[in-house]
Amino acid sequence: MLAVVIVIGLLAAFVAYRWLLPRYSDSRSNSNQVIERWFTDVTSRSTLTTAMNRTTCSGVPFSLPSDGLIGLLWRDSAPPYTILNPHTGIDVFGDGAVGNVPVYAAYDGLLSRRSDWLSSVIIKHDDPLQAGRTIWTYYTHMATQDGSHAFIASAFPAGTSDLPVKRGDLLGYQGEYAGVGRPPIGMHVHMSIVTSEDDGTFKNEAIIGNTLDPSPYFGMQLNIADLPARPIQCKS
Ligand SMILES: [Zn+2]
Repeated sequence: MLAVVIVIGLLAAFVAYRWLLPRYSDSRSNSNQVIERWFTDVTSRSTLTTAMNRTTCSGVPFSLPSDGLIGLLWRDSAPPYTILNPHTGIDVFGDGAVGNVPVYAAYDGLLSRRSDWLSSVIIKHDDPLQAGRTIWTYYTHMATQDGSHAFIASAFPAGTSDLPVKRGDLLGYQGEYAGVGRPPIGMHVHMSIVTSEDDGTFKNEAIIGNTLDPSPYFGMQLNIADLPARPIQCKS
């Protein structure tokens, strides 16, 4: 009898985790439909693109790091993410060939690229919205899918530490690298705003609680809770 109860319990947990959780999570997001359209219907791209061309929305500090479809948003639970493990930043899908769509610094700061970072850079900023706080903007996926070639600007070789950059400086180009053992989801750049540890280093950006809602920094609806239509534009 006990064995039957355990088996039924395990089955229920499996169904909840593998079937109900992804479906419920997807229902809390409007992102995957539009990303699918972007990749299956190239003619839709002009109607889905946010093109800021390095300008900022009025009254806010950050400029969009790349032009394109702002597909996955902050706290997004669209698969492969879930409400338990949501997306920590924004994904901008550019219209162009891999290695050709530029990625720019969102704001002035000090750029670092760890010696073991293939496709990523991070920039340290004095938080323009909260004086005295240090925050970071993290940019990744700037390499070929197989990791054989990085698309980061030559000014920022691996091992770069605290190099001053300005908002709008070229960081590199969008790629398809998703990390070892992770499925690629198409060419884009992922960008997140990361908070600091007590010792001043950046926190692990893969954890939602270590990141900030980018909406007030960009003046756009970038929190999935708002379910914004695409293309996302400056808040009026
Ligand atoms: Zn992402």
